[in-house]
Amino acid sequence: MFGRWVADVSRKVPSLLKRVSLEMKPQVVFVLGGPGAGKGTQCSRIVENYSYTHLSAGDLLREERAREGSEFGQLIDNHIKEGQIVPVQITINLLKKAMEDTMQKDETKFRFLIDGFPRNEDNLQGWNTVMDGKADVKFVLFFDCDNKVCIQRCLERGKSSGRTDDNRESLEKRIQTYLQSTRPIIQLYEKLGKVRTVDASRSVDEVFAEVKAILDKEG
Ligand code: UDP
Ligand code: MG
Repeated sequence: MFGRWVADVSRKVPSLLKRVSLEMKPQVVFVLGGPGAGKGTQCSRIVENYSYTHLSAGDLLREERAREGSEFGQLIDNHIKEGQIVPVQITINLLKKAMEDTMQKDETKFRFLIDGFPRNEDNLQGWNTVMDGKADVKFVLFFDCDNKVCIQRCLERGKSSGRTDDNRESLEKRIQTYLQSTRPIIQLYEKLGKVRTVDASRSVDEVFAEVKAILDKEG
């Protein structure tokens, strides 16, 4: 009797687990910080060590810019060069689709690092409108880095990145946008007690040690 019950339950567990994870809401960590603060670098390290999927809003926009037949290519290109923020409808659709595709391929992948988003009020509103109730934002991982260090890193990266915005002129604009538009978003989450700040001016290993401590604590 008991044996049959055990057999029955263990047969059902995998499908039950599957169902639970299918219904799992995406768990999101927003990764913010100035250009060159090390968001992408640290996200790669996180992915190697934790079960997160890294989605860079900037990378998704660059992919969309390069996609043949995209109606947004030119608009994205202009915004990126000028350090301006692309209208959220475009970005949110890319993010939503990337999350859905990831979870469809593998239902256990419901933890996301969303890197470089939300960058302004418009981004945040778009997220809240489209993703309300559909995803949980666990916290904001904030890479706090001196602007001069950020500019130096991006200029260094510009020697090989091929990015149209890793030059001094675009960088000045990106820093301005960051200070004017993105910092207030970080402050907003700060008020909600949702910001975990890392001193990002140090070496990759030193920064990652701090990131690890935060993620181990947050679970
Ligand atoms: N961008 C945007 N919306 C986003 C993310 C990026 O418009 O949600 C654009 C913006 O012009 C930004 C550029 O993409 O300056 C590069 O962003 P990315 O995050 O790749 O740069 P990083 O901060 O990592 O150096
Ligand atoms: Mg990046």
